[in-house]
Amino acid sequence: MADANHYDLVVVGGGPAGEKAAAQAAYWGKRVAIVDRAPQLGGAMVGGVVSSKTMREAALYLTGFRRRDVYDVSLDLTPEVATEHLRRRTDHVVQIMTDAATENMRRHGVDRINGRASLGTDRSFVVESSDGRAPRTISAQVVIITTGSSPFHPPGIPFDDPDVLDSDAAALLDHPLRSLVVVGGGAVGCEFASIFTALGAEVALVDSGTRLLPFMDAEISETLADTFRGMGMRVIQGAGRATAARTEAGLEVTLASGETLRPEKVIFAAGRIGNTSGLGLDAAGVATDERGRIVVDERYRTTADGIYAAGDVIGPPALGSVSMEQARVAACWAFDIPLKRAVDSLPPYGVYAVPEVAMVGLTEEAANAEGIPCASGRARFETNTRAAISGATEGMVKLVFGTDDLRILGVHVLGDAATELVHLGQSVIHFGGTVEYFIHTTFNVPTMSEAFKYAAYDGLRQVGR
Ligand SMILES: Cc1cc2nc3c(=O)[nH]c(=O)nc-3n(C[C@H](O)[C@H](O)[C@H](O)COP(=O)(O)OP(=O)(O)OC[C@H]3O[C@@H](n4cnc5c(N)ncnc54)[C@H](O)[C@@H]3O)c2cc1C
Repeated sequence: MADANHYDLVVVGGGPAGEKAAAQAAYWGKRVAIVDRAPQLGGAMVGGVVSSKTMREAALYLTGFRRRDVYDVSLDLTPEVATEHLRRRTDHVVQIMTDAATENMRRHGVDRINGRASLGTDRSFVVESSDGRAPRTISAQVVIITTGSSPFHPPGIPFDDPDVLDSDAAALLDHPLRSLVVVGGGAVGCEFASIFTALGAEVALVDSGTRLLPFMDAEISETLADTFRGMGMRVIQGAGRATAARTEAGLEVTLASGETLRPEKVIFAAGRIGNTSGLGLDAAGVATDERGRIVVDERYRTTADGIYAAGDVIGPPALGSVSMEQARVAACWAFDIPLKRAVDSLPPYGVYAVPEVAMVGLTEEAANAEGIPCASGRARFETNTRAAISGATEGMVKLVFGTDDLRILGVHVLGDAATELVHLGQSVIHFGGTVEYFIHTTFNVPTMSEAFKYAAYDGLRQVGR
């Protein structure tokens, strides 16, 4: 009789990567278990992604942010009432997404095991439950580790103070703020800073670098910083290392310049570290780097035989979108499933700030650094009909293309629905398309997508065609 505690695949971690690895293998007939220390599936996808995005949508909707200027009216909601609606809406969406993950596992016949897993030798595990049940030992032919990441805590910052938050705690904020300092000008920092500005808080965004979102096109990040300032946010760049302390005067955030800010709360969005402590990786022969991230090869194999890893636990780009793809690819290699052999080399990046920012392919600076002769074309949303109708006129579509063959190299969008619009550019790059694709294609009018056409015309004008 088959051993009930032995599986073809055990996935450790029930976030988006774990769920997709488990479903992929189960779909191809494997006996699969998924272990998570949390009672609900979903990982940071529900705790971080869904919470922060729902908070964003609700903040825009409830406060009438932006529409206020269009109709010259404001919605009559106090910040307290708005935040209560916002919290309720977030809880509702989180529940929908955790239910969907649970149903996906049920439909694929995946066994769910709740508890904290630690690896032994030969791909065996002990799973300790938090509800007093006896530890369970399971084993597998293949293991995929998808235990995700946790916020990095810079040394010396008092995260035990209830007003000093990391990015996970920030996603759980449940009351309006008068004032907020966000330290970190990356994706998570820009998102929280702009959401709370839209909610009416006095916000300072403090970044040690000289520009926000340094991986994005420089022109787009500079326009984003200007847009933030136009919304009333204070953006402090090149600020060095910020510290926080509780004094008799209250919470104080001190910048390298010596300036002291006294916000109601401070959020440190300082990157993430791999969730690998206590997993027993040494015993299993799985190597990690200095930030606790699991080292993998191009097939997502770790240094231990039969053990794979995917998602945030292996490090950048640490996106839900890419994590899920890595996990599917890992499952395909592990069981020789003839579906996927590599993750898309052109993943889009999206930042759900107010306004959104998204990119795919090369920035203008990257193309120049690679020595590719290139030019760019822009269309600003201030002249776009759909944007004018909705009052979301900040931002642009920017196309970066080769001057020799007019091939699109990169697409950069700042503005409403940027994270959706960027996929059009992604398809054109994937199919080797040129600027002329946008010239000859008919777009619905009025749409934000139409901006691609005018960016293309602008691009051709730049190169004298
Ligand atoms: C505020 C915020 C906003 C974000 N916004 C976006 C976005 O807009 N778009 C995007 O693509 N990505 C976004 N991300 C990133 C995204 O959330 C992660 O890339 C994604 O969740 C990683 O998935 P994962 O499955 O690798 O890990 P996780 O989602 O972290 O899941 C790991 C799971 O492993 C479990 N686990 C850990 N250790 C053990 C153990 N020893 N035993 C058992 N279980 C264990 C945890 O309980 C958890 O459920 C955001 C993240 C944050 C924090």
